[in-house]
Formats: sequence, structure tokens, C-alpha cells
Amino acid sequence: MQNSIVLMFHEIHNKLWFKEVLQNLGKRYKFVNAFQLYENINNKGLCHITFDDGHQSFYDNAYPILYELGIPATLFVSPKVIEDEKNYWFQRVRKLNNKDFHQYVCQKVSNRFKIPIIDFSLYSILKALPIKIILELIENYERENMIKEESYINITIEQLMELKDSELVEIGSHTINHPILANESDRVAEFEIKGSIENLKRITGKEINYFAFPNGQPGLDFGDRELKILKETGIKLVFSTESNKIKGSFHNYVVPRIGISKGNNFFIKNKIRFAKQWLLLRNLSHRKTEDKERKVLTAMRISNS
Ligand SMILES: [Zn+2]
Repeated sequence: MQNSIVLMFHEIHNKLWFKEVLQNLGKRYKFVNAFQLYENINNKGLCHITFDDGHQSFYDNAYPILYELGIPATLFVSPKVIEDEKNYWFQRVRKLNNKDFHQYVCQKVSNRFKIPIIDFSLYSILKALPIKIILELIENYERENMIKEESYINITIEQLMELKDSELVEIGSHTINHPILANESDRVAEFEIKGSIENLKRITGKEINYFAFPNGQPGLDFGDRELKILKETGIKLVFSTESNKIKGSFHNYVVPRIGISKGNNFFIKNKIRFAKQWLLLRNLSHRKTEDKERKVLTAMRISNS
């Protein structure tokens, strides 16, 4: 039997596509909820479905299909985003003029790096900064250019309450502000992790047992410090975005996930089959370039800034 897998989705804009993906997976795997995965982490042939961020399309498109097929899922959200109805920083950046905002960011933060940053991509630069600076850059840029804040695109608190009461959806924590935790001070890292778990507990009235790292790449986005904080919270399973199947040898506290956002059955089958080698096979992949850039920028950061 094949190794168990956890899949990661974000937005679903085509219900039919999502339904077909699940139906095809169902021929090869047994769908389990997060607790069943936790209890049977060393078993083969299991598949757990996860969603990050809580985009409105989860409620509109994914949830009805999960419900129709009776498939459980975990939804990782920020309690602050939902309570404030204020979009995640990366969603706000998406709405800005990329070229113009890129120039603005370079101007404002070039003094934080030992090398010129103009040739690095906007997201590589932002992901090398603490969340406080990222939010300041967005807010100041929006204000100076009189850009109206975009409308809210994630689930509402009422929808969250409906989802948490459903048999199929488990709510998991995804920090408060979606920072790159590795860029933060000890104090902020702890606040982002523990604060989000406590706030979700308060809102849902339920234990929060699962956590997914924002961005989620081991080493680049989080490390031992974050895992230590999570262990103190009693969280049962922590999910990364490292593309891999669940194998006997892996550290069972950090579960890898294979990201799925598009493609037909053949494409998805191969993406799962070659999970670990996927980035190598796809040599020009955007993510690989970004990872490389981020490693350089992080190493070239001027400390104490
Ligand atoms: Zn996320």
C-alpha cells in the first residue's frame, strides 16, 4: 500500500474540479480526519485534506463538496483576520500595483540589507522582513497613494461558527498575522503561536489541536524554537508545507503536505507520486527561485533591524 498523504489546498474556484480530485483520490486512499491521522500516523494508505487561510471559496465551494462526499478536512485560519474582517497581508499585497509597490518597498527597506535588493522579487523581500514592517509598508503605501482598502475575501465569523459545529470540519490555528515566524523575535513568535491558539479556543469554545505554519517551509519559515513553543501548547499535530508523503522516518510532530491547486488527475497523481522531487523536476518553478532569493536576503540582513 502507498504511504499516507496530507494535501493542502487554498482556494477552490471550480467545484467540479475539486469533486473530481477527491473522487479520484478516494479510489486510492482512505480519507481520515485529523484525529484519525494523529492516531494512525504510521499507517499507510490514508489521506487527510487541509485548507489554509480560510478563503471565502472554502465555504462557498469546497465545504459543500466535502459535505456531499462525506470527507473530513482541517481548516487553518487566523482568528484575528476573521474577527477584524481584514485580509491577510499577502492578499492585500496582491491587490497593489506590483511594480510600483516593489520600488516603494526597496526604497523603504534597502537599509536593512547589506546588498542592493532591487533585483529581488517583491515577495522574496517581504518574506525576509518581520510582520510589523510588512504591515507598515502596506498601510503607509495605501495611505500615501490613497488606495482604498479592498473588500474582505475570507470567511466570516458566522461561517466559522457553522464550520466548527459541523462533523466534518476541524478548525486549526495558523497564527495571528501570518508572519514568517523565523523572522520574528522570541516574544513575537510566542505571541503569534500561542495567541492564535487561545483566541481560536475562545471563539469556537473548542480545543485547538492542530497548527499549520504560515508559508510553512522547514528551516526557512520556522525552526526548533517554534516547535518548542508548540510543544508547550499541547498541540497534537503540526503541519508544514514541505512537499512529501508521510514516511516512517519523518519527525512525527511536523507533518509534510503536498500542495494541490490545479491540474487533471494525471498531473495530481504525479505530483503526489513525486512529492519530494517535485521542485527538482520542475526546475524553473517560481517557488524554487523565491527560496533561493530568500536564503540570500536572510543571510544579508543587517541584524537588530
Ligand atoms: Zn497561509
